[in-house]
Amino acid sequence: MPIPVRAYAAEASDKPLAPYAFDRRDPGPGDVAIDIQYAGVCHSDLHIVQNDLGNTTYPIVPGHEIAGVVTAVGSDVERFKVGDRVGVGCMVDSCRQCAPCREGEEQFCVPGMTQTYGSPDPKGGAVGQTITQGGYSTAIVVDQDFVVRIPDSLSLDAAAPLLCAGITTYSPLRTWGVGPDSKVAVIGLGGLGHMAVKQAAAMGAEVTVLSTSDRKKADAERMGAKHFLINSDKDAMKAAAEKFDLIINTVSATHEIADHIQLLAKDGTMVMLGLTTEGMPVYAMPLLWRRRRIAGSLIGGIRETQEMLDFCAEHDIACDIELIAPSEINTAYERMKKSDVRYRFVLDMARI
Ligand code: NAP
Ligand code: ZN
Ligand code: ZN
Repeated sequence: MPIPVRAYAAEASDKPLAPYAFDRRDPGPGDVAIDIQYAGVCHSDLHIVQNDLGNTTYPIVPGHEIAGVVTAVGSDVERFKVGDRVGVGCMVDSCRQCAPCREGEEQFCVPGMTQTYGSPDPKGGAVGQTITQGGYSTAIVVDQDFVVRIPDSLSLDAAAPLLCAGITTYSPLRTWGVGPDSKVAVIGLGGLGHMAVKQAAAMGAEVTVLSTSDRKKADAERMGAKHFLINSDKDAMKAAAEKFDLIINTVSATHEIADHIQLLAKDGTMVMLGLTTEGMPVYAMPLLWRRRRIAGSLIGGIRETQEMLDFCAEHDIACDIELIAPSEINTAYERMKKSDVRYRFVLDMARI
């Protein structure tokens, strides 16, 4: 039987999100049906609702930081059972056959992963619709291979944002081998940034936060940052030149990166995470003079997402959240536009 859900959807780029109802597909043999209890609010949701990338299909139900409890499993599902605490992140399917899929990096699937919302959906996850619909909703049906387990020690509300923010920062920290000898800078103390600080500190790195004001200084230090810089402070930026092995850049808007490149040590890398669509000038000299690199990173694979959840449980890392009712989503977006989030909004789906 299809599962009726209540949700919040955007009908157009210039309209507030509003209540919306649709049906999830009847769970198949390999599916897990999940009662969504909490859904994190990622800045990517806002980009997509506003059509910043120019490819949004409406109506769209955002949400790819999903935490909930299993309500039913298909006949082929052995790893999950009714009552399990589970999460779903940015992907609900991929081709399973291409090289990245076989290597467990489904986010780089060559024909393209099926994103949790807004993707063409051959499996018809949202009945009668052409695209997938996301987690600002009361339930979801997902292939078992794209469901992860939330460790018992993590509360479901503060764990929800790990499913995107948490894995998006964990993956580059691991890829670039962060450990006790590393000096890591994090630009932007928002949802992603605060996870990067906590995770890098837990890996033993010396962490510096670069922010646009001193409003978040005390929070950054509480999260494990040793140093805090305001990136418009030219003297402080000069003093920090050549200090960092890795810079995790989480800024959600076009910004000056040339100045920040100077902060990298020899062989240092700046990893771009923000979904900015306009170009940002970069100069060759500062790169070649210290063999610096600029890189990008996209969420993480399913295996790595489970590893990240287990790492966060082991190190007692959760997100700092503001729990809100789904009806408050438009105000949350307005605050997110002003970088006024401490440090992730999470929708309490029981209050829909
Ligand atoms: P967020 O919570 O809104 O945080 C973004 C932070 O960037 C803000 O808190 C602010 O930090 C800083 N910032 C914003 N506008 C700025 C500007 N004009 N100049 C300088 N700094 C600015 O957003 P988020 O959810 O962490 O997401 C960050 C970005 O990553 C978004 O673009 C999102 O779409 C993208 N994203 C990418 C992936 C991926 O796989 N690569 C995954 C998830 C999200 P301060 O207040 O400290 O200055
Ligand atoms: Zn996200
Ligand atoms: Zn693939």
